[in-house]
Amino acid sequence: MSDTSEYETWISNFCSLYGHDYYVEVAPEFIEDEFNLTGLSSIVPFYREALDLILDFEPEANVKISDLPLIQHSAELLYGLIHSRYIITKQGLNAMSEKYQKGQFGQCPRYYCNGCKLLPTGRYDSPGMETVRLFCPNCFDLYLPNSSRYLNIDGAFFGTTFSGFFLKMFDLDKPNLKKQFELKIFGFKVNEVSNVGQRMKWLRSLPKTEEEFKEYEQID
Ligand SMILES: [Zn+2]
Repeated sequence: MSDTSEYETWISNFCSLYGHDYYVEVAPEFIEDEFNLTGLSSIVPFYREALDLILDFEPEANVKISDLPLIQHSAELLYGLIHSRYIITKQGLNAMSEKYQKGQFGQCPRYYCNGCKLLPTGRYDSPGMETVRLFCPNCFDLYLPNSSRYLNIDGAFFGTTFSGFFLKMFDLDKPNLKKQFELKIFGFKVNEVSNVGQRMKWLRSLPKTEEEFKEYEQID
């Protein structure tokens, strides 16, 4: 325990740990509502004990000391999975937006994205598949966090839905993909068919006219 007399909850302690600054603090009321936890008891070992730990309830008398590290591990998994559900609620989106506005998730390394702020995202909703990635709302690409401290955070703790939801909720600046870097040789553009040409340039372009949208719809 810290030397201050103020009591620190498990949640605020967890979120303040080194490398945990992508997480927002989930409101205890959200966790106390069983409906929000549907299905998690079958994924998380020591579910009940982990839940008690997260909510700072006294552990049951029959908890074995030797199980404590496992329960702590389960609590982290459970918190992450609850977190991915919480950040798509109004309250959670607002909390994430505060972090986003401050640029706490970093900036897009792509030169022409002009320091666009990134959003943490997962490519899978099941834990253990892949660590967290950062999504750029300007170039729609994914990046790895630039510090290794984030490389053990599970992508499922942010999930596949959050970024899209966030962008829908907060009308961010429209993407600006007009500017793309083009190689030139002695001032001449390199032909697209050349080995160093931009043959896949269309991957970064967006449909603009209704006709182009229709064409885009037909792509599988
Ligand atoms: Zn970008």
